[in-house]
Amino acid sequence: MHINKSKDLFAKAQHFIPGGVNSPVRAFRAVGGEPIFIKKADGAFIYDEDDNAYIELINSWGPMILGHNHPLIREAVIKAMEHGTSFGAPTSREVEIAELITHMVPSIEKVRMVNSGTEATMSAIRLARGYTGRDKFIKFEGHYHGHGDSFLIAAGSGVATMGYPDSPGVTKGTAKDTLLAPHNNIEAVKELVENNKGEIAAIILEPVAGNMGCVLPREGFLKALRELCDQEGIVLIFDEVMSGFRLAKGGAQEHFGVTPDLTTLGKIIGGGMPVGAYGGKKEIMDFVSPAGPVYQAGTLSGNPIAMAAGLAMLTHLNETPSVYSDLNRIGNKLVGGFQQSLKKLGLNYTINHLGSMYTLFFTYNEVYDFDSAKNSDTVLFGKYFQAMLQKGIYLAPSQYESLFLSTALSDKDIEKIIEANEASLIEVF
Ligand code: PLP
Repeated sequence: MHINKSKDLFAKAQHFIPGGVNSPVRAFRAVGGEPIFIKKADGAFIYDEDDNAYIELINSWGPMILGHNHPLIREAVIKAMEHGTSFGAPTSREVEIAELITHMVPSIEKVRMVNSGTEATMSAIRLARGYTGRDKFIKFEGHYHGHGDSFLIAAGSGVATMGYPDSPGVTKGTAKDTLLAPHNNIEAVKELVENNKGEIAAIILEPVAGNMGCVLPREGFLKALRELCDQEGIVLIFDEVMSGFRLAKGGAQEHFGVTPDLTTLGKIIGGGMPVGAYGGKKEIMDFVSPAGPVYQAGTLSGNPIAMAAGLAMLTHLNETPSVYSDLNRIGNKLVGGFQQSLKKLGLNYTINHLGSMYTLFFTYNEVYDFDSAKNSDTVLFGKYFQAMLQKGIYLAPSQYESLFLSTALSDKDIEKIIEANEASLIEVF
């Protein structure tokens, strides 16, 4: 496989872009080698600048749940383009998408559209603070909520991949209001709440974590958080930027039957365009300006092209329940195949999996929080990643990421991935 054009582009990019990329994990730092530059994508495949084809298991880090270049999204975008690219004024599509979101995710009574997941979580925390009149919030180690200052403390995703405990540039003053708890440890959360009685505005978490690899909530954990928040007047925020519209039509909250006060959304909601949203109880959302005093705004928020893509995506998901049974079947087939290979090779590596999210951890122990995820052999993961890439399978370039499956994966594609996985495991030992 030649990657000459990607190599040249990366060399040039490093002169003009910090680290040569516009988002750190894309640089492949954690897996060695150099990033491939993508020319186009279609269905389950992406193609690099040297015309190598890869089966996709990242799907733009989640949004492309139907695969790439889906005709429904493409046509909606082209049609919207004919009427102009931005108005900075209300449009009918924004009303339509808001109504659809409240229908698909019933805990959301009102919703505000923004341009990214980061904006959604930053705004949700500000809102929870404005609503409760309290400053502190609890987040979980290894969870990633975007790059807002107050979240870059023991964060997952690229922050974990790069091995940063936090980020320079985040002031001590900001960091002191972010309280940290280990994932899945309700006693630790209770202790934090007890020690900061009446001072905690919100608890925010990924209900199914994807940013330290895929890590599921233990039985009863989400429900216990709900009860604690009710007792203490704390706003419970589910960050469903990854899990929203993916684990079920109504996200992880539908799957687990636990209702947050606020939900943050991103990725799938924009059909591949830059969109995020936050929403929840009317009583809280009416604190957002201009209904209430908590300020939040955006020049391009509710952008007509982005809304057209998002609306096409959500309408399809809402009207096509088979998407979720298909994703579950694809996920079960793929992970089942991986498990068989592991058994055959006498390897006891952990696979965490729910629906169309999974991570193969290079550790034998159970992975239920950030510390247990960090037992993984990341050097071995790097070798495995490169072996898979050589075989035409494009994975997330980090152990600390969930993979995302799409409905575009055929049975033949899945078989190819399973074979490549087994061959790569043999190769790296
Ligand atoms: N929240 C979660 C759970 C995420 O996974 C991400 C991004 O991966 C974000 C927030 C930030 O979203 P964005 O990258 O769109 O700012």
